[in-house]
Amino acid sequence: MASRKFFVGGNWKCNGTGEDVKKIVTVLNEAEVPSEDVVEVVVSPPFVFLQQVKGLLRPDFSVAAQNCWVRKGGAFTGEISAEMLVNLQVPWVILGHSERRALLEKLSDWTNVVLAYEPVWAIGTGKVATPAQAQEVHDGLRKWLQSNVSPAVAESTRIIYGGSVNGGNCKVLAAQPDVDGFLVGGASLKPEFVDIIKSAT
Ligand code: PEP
Repeated sequence: MASRKFFVGGNWKCNGTGEDVKKIVTVLNEAEVPSEDVVEVVVSPPFVFLQQVKGLLRPDFSVAAQNCWVRKGGAFTGEISAEMLVNLQVPWVILGHSERRALLEKLSDWTNVVLAYEPVWAIGTGKVATPAQAQEVHDGLRKWLQSNVSPAVAESTRIIYGGSVNGGNCKVLAAQPDVDGFLVGGASLKPEFVDIIKSAT
């Protein structure tokens, strides 16, 4: 798995109530998982619960927004700007999820980017890519980074897999050399998310 730290993101999508959020956070806070030197865990609640989750969540896990507006703030009803997320100390954001197809500006700095490969046929369907399929695509993406960005970025960028990852299939996927973690939807709302975090080791 090279020197890249394993990354597990939980995308809660448009689910839950304040009570559900408390329950999920309690499960996460009580879970025994590998240390933050080994795995980086980020959960992404709906916007309305971001501050609540940030306040309750254990300090070794962090939060992500599920989207943000691509430009500066202004007269854009319903949008939330990157500046607002920074102001609220929300360190991560999911951009360009296939359920939104958001616009992605050309990147000039890859330092804090985690790239997710998510076959659309696998998202929320229960059909997961085989380890060989995931590895083939991740390897291709890394080669693309090598040729189009730089060998250093290709070596350091974490490429994570998403699409029906669960507690049962995470281990074999995590064993692939270019699978550096997961973006998890449905299973991130369940206790098995802890097993997915543990697949880092
Ligand atoms: C996702 O929403 O990014 C996702 C991968 O969902 P699921 O794990 O439910 O397929």
